[in-house]
Amino acid sequence: MAINAGIRGLIRKLAVKNAIDYGSARDGPILAKVLSKDPSLKSEIKSVNAAIKEILAEVNSLSKAELEKEYDKHSAEFEQEAARKAEKSSIHNFSIQGAEQGNFVTRFPPEPGGYMHIGHAKPLFVEDELRRVYGGELLLYFDDTNPDNERQEFVDAFKEDLKWLGVQFEREYYASDNIARLYEYANVAIRRGKAYVCICDGERIKQYRMEGKDCEHKKQGMEENIARWNDMLEGRFSDNEAILRFSSDMGAANTTLRDPTLFRIKHASHYRQGKKYFIWPTYDFCTPILDSTNGITDVVRSKEYELRDELYFAVLDALGLRKPRITSFSRLEISNNVTSKRKIRELIAEGKISGWDDPRLVTIRALMKRGITAEAIKQFSLGFGLGKAESVVDIEMLLNINRRIVDPTAKRLFFIEDPKPMHIEGIEGRIVEMKLNSQPDSGYRKYKLGGDLFINASDSNRLQKGDTVRLKDAFNVTIKGVGEKIEATYQGDAQAEIPRIQWIPKDGAMECELVHIGNLLEGESLNGKSMTSTKGYAEAYASVLKEGDLVQFERRGLFKLDSRKAMSFLSM
Ligand SMILES: [Zn+2]
Repeated sequence: MAINAGIRGLIRKLAVKNAIDYGSARDGPILAKVLSKDPSLKSEIKSVNAAIKEILAEVNSLSKAELEKEYDKHSAEFEQEAARKAEKSSIHNFSIQGAEQGNFVTRFPPEPGGYMHIGHAKPLFVEDELRRVYGGELLLYFDDTNPDNERQEFVDAFKEDLKWLGVQFEREYYASDNIARLYEYANVAIRRGKAYVCICDGERIKQYRMEGKDCEHKKQGMEENIARWNDMLEGRFSDNEAILRFSSDMGAANTTLRDPTLFRIKHASHYRQGKKYFIWPTYDFCTPILDSTNGITDVVRSKEYELRDELYFAVLDALGLRKPRITSFSRLEISNNVTSKRKIRELIAEGKISGWDDPRLVTIRALMKRGITAEAIKQFSLGFGLGKAESVVDIEMLLNINRRIVDPTAKRLFFIEDPKPMHIEGIEGRIVEMKLNSQPDSGYRKYKLGGDLFINASDSNRLQKGDTVRLKDAFNVTIKGVGEKIEATYQGDAQAEIPRIQWIPKDGAMECELVHIGNLLEGESLNGKSMTSTKGYAEAYASVLKEGDLVQFERRGLFKLDSRKAMSFLSM
């Protein structure tokens, strides 16, 4: 069956949008959209695919200028659709069964052992949204009971990044400020027969856990445990010589319940408490207690912790403390990237990346450096709702949201990669004014022309004597001669259906570097092309740009000026 003109038009429109959004049009998403629009076509899948293939080939062969022209015809419709989508994602059902209006307190619990990254953003914005929905509170809880990892630098960085992301907290607290209180809870647990001191070595503990077997220390009496615990507190053991363990069930199917560690010994200096303590609680002990005693009603966390929920409640039961409600949702990950603190530290040490803000990373600092806005990170994070399906997505998804947000205000400039000189007779002293972008109040860039300009060598190669072309956004010229320099004469301003080429005035042309950021990883290994650069010239207006300014370089995409000194721009 032949595919009707309406459907062909729809395919064409989708292909154009796809080509603008992604650089080239792909068939998969288009087929899905066509079928959702007209499900009856499912029986005609062969013809639909053939039509898509044919139309894609046409669209992918269009020049960027032709593509943009076609896109502009539908731009209002595309914008409406984007707005509808954004609205739909913002009305994701952010509700928790049993949660109470006006009686809702949750917390955001980072460990200050590294910089905040995109994986933290989802729980953060989900918690922020739930606070809004339930008219409650969001607290900032630094989970800092591992002196080996944590640093004030990371606490400060988290606070700065959270501020930049626009999330405020009713109150903040630190696990490490509560150590003395947590010792008291340890005493309670020991007296209730729910904790014991174990001096087995690590290997044995691991082996017994695997075999589901109790060690002899579990049979110690309460007096013995109190004495050993006091020995721990008085410093009679060195690091890792003893631990306080939860007396639970070594045969439990859920292995997190096989007598986990509640306290361990670490004599290293702590960034906040110094040498004050050397017996440190684990996450499994301090988190439920501090949640319960800080009035947290709802813990909202990613599914990776789900196995620990049972332990969380068991610890609170053992101590007779109130239990918050726990809601789990899927973790959000960016494919082909790294968020593990250990791996990032390694890459920095090996000189493979420049630091925690290397623009190839997905730390908040890296995204910020690259020109991703807080609003884009928020929309991206909330776009998945509270669903449990694992989401590992391409960074392109975040970049697209960001482009939609910043594109209207980015300045549109010309960029010439391989300059070919052109001389035009009859334009000397002429002033051209070109809009900085499509917004009504965008302002202009203005040049007084001398007669010499640059065009791309790739464009000049196609020019022949006698051709008339339009210098984009300016006027028409007729080619008089092609050689080392293109000679041309001014041919009037009237718009005409003739080829358009990019150009820049020679005067003030600025040498620039466009840095293209790709995925950090390719499968398991580093992507050798994760950062590539193109050198060339931008028009003189580039000299007034400030670091952080966003530019849409014609045919190149969106960039952020990263360094004025080097005139280096990062792709976004
Ligand atoms: Zn033992």
